[in-house]
Amino acid sequence: MTERKVRVRFAPSPTGALHIGGVRTALYNYLFARQHNGDLIFRIEDTDSNRFVPGAEEYIIESFKWLGIKFDEGVSFGGEHGPYRQSERRDIYKKYVQQLLDTDKAYIAFDTPAELDAKRAEIPNFQYDAHTRGSMRNSLTLSKEEVDNLIANGEQYVVRFKIEPNEDIHVNDMIRGDVVINSSILDDKVLYKSADELPTYHLANIVDDHLMEVTHVIRGEEWLPSAPLHVLLYRAFGWADTMPQFAHLPLLLKPDGKGKLSKRDGDRLGFPVFPLEWHDPKSGEVSSGYRESGYLPEAVLNFLALLGWNPGNDQELMTLDEMVQLFDIHRCSKAGAKFDYVKGIWFNHEYILKMSDEKVAEMFMPILKEHGIEAPMDKVVTVVGLMKGRVNFVKELWDTCKFFFVAPTEYDAKTVQKRWKEDSAEMMGKLADLLESLDDFSIENQEKVVMKWIEDNGYHTGNIMNAFRLTLVGEGKGPHMFDISAVLGKEETLTRMRRAIEVLK
Ligand code: GLU
Repeated sequence: MTERKVRVRFAPSPTGALHIGGVRTALYNYLFARQHNGDLIFRIEDTDSNRFVPGAEEYIIESFKWLGIKFDEGVSFGGEHGPYRQSERRDIYKKYVQQLLDTDKAYIAFDTPAELDAKRAEIPNFQYDAHTRGSMRNSLTLSKEEVDNLIANGEQYVVRFKIEPNEDIHVNDMIRGDVVINSSILDDKVLYKSADELPTYHLANIVDDHLMEVTHVIRGEEWLPSAPLHVLLYRAFGWADTMPQFAHLPLLLKPDGKGKLSKRDGDRLGFPVFPLEWHDPKSGEVSSGYRESGYLPEAVLNFLALLGWNPGNDQELMTLDEMVQLFDIHRCSKAGAKFDYVKGIWFNHEYILKMSDEKVAEMFMPILKEHGIEAPMDKVVTVVGLMKGRVNFVKELWDTCKFFFVAPTEYDAKTVQKRWKEDSAEMMGKLADLLESLDDFSIENQEKVVMKWIEDNGYHTGNIMNAFRLTLVGEGKGPHMFDISAVLGKEETLTRMRRAIEVLK
């Protein structure tokens, strides 16, 4: 067999916001595609009209745009294997359903929901399969005429997959190895419903993966139970030779305790589980998103990449390109990955540090504007450079840095009590005079002159600096003192000092 070009797909159902676990699945598909010079397809699996949520598709597309995950083909991207929205592929599926019927791999069933309920009540653990199908209303028990008549009379039906019992089915999973399941535990899955003239997920998924020449199916662990059925479908169609290789990714687990990560965990512990803010069109409920919460997309991707995989050493910070180089699907863990959202915050901090001061300043500018501050860019860049190491989110820069832009109107009582001594007012007066005499207000010159002044007079450095800080900041925090005074400039520094002396003396 000739080597096939690697083709993978991310195939969400538009049933609501994209869960963060889905983002990780898409990311792993992206990394896999890129590192094999393959294609990444974006397919919308919208055959379940009951669960369709308007706006979900657009939301998903916008999420990946924000994250910087690019698809090669698919809904909104185009390509030669379209249409990529399953609801637009009805005719294609009909043909393949017919193929299964013609080859006796599937059959038509007329059992109504009421009839099925009655069977379930009658037979404990009822399953529609090789043991029971002979006693049901289907094309295996009815004559061809009866079947044709029922259909002609407009009776609704489904097409079921005829699963042969007692066979060990092997799913060769790139992460889990050889997974074996006996076919007897599977029921004759519904592949098609006449009522909406649409296939179910299983049929559409297999047909599309085949027609779109998908070589690897990388998806969440919750789909592992469907994999044996999918293997059987490939065989039933005669496509076993080109069956994709599977990889079922580990679950994302609650940050604390056991079980699968849910939206409730996010609400309870205060972190988003969706990439973007989501407005549920039905309930009107608004759920927070990583974007609106101030996360950088690069940080989110880096954080997610390490939930279920690691490069085999301690390296945690990786650009997307580095991840492409290092990613190895075989190194993914089978065990679930705890969703350590605190680590996610740490990643954001690290990415703010890595970002240029200019870029962070650009993001900080609108926040300053919101607070009524119009500051020159070079000042904002300097302040960001001094302060970005202290925040996890750009928006936190306001609280951390506002004293650079707004003079204190009050002085923190505790700090005053501790730091403002008997002679502080007098000392600050002298220091203000000294600073006023300087022509060169650079950090270095201020430091040189002031330190010499302290030394020559035998003053206490700590006392002077603490009081100085209180006059400029209003409390006991902030970076190096002369960094502050240099950014404020001589005039503003002296104004603040003299005002504090007035108020505190
Ligand atoms: N439509 C399925 C989902 O919503 C796709 C599962 C698969 O990748 O096969 O996740």
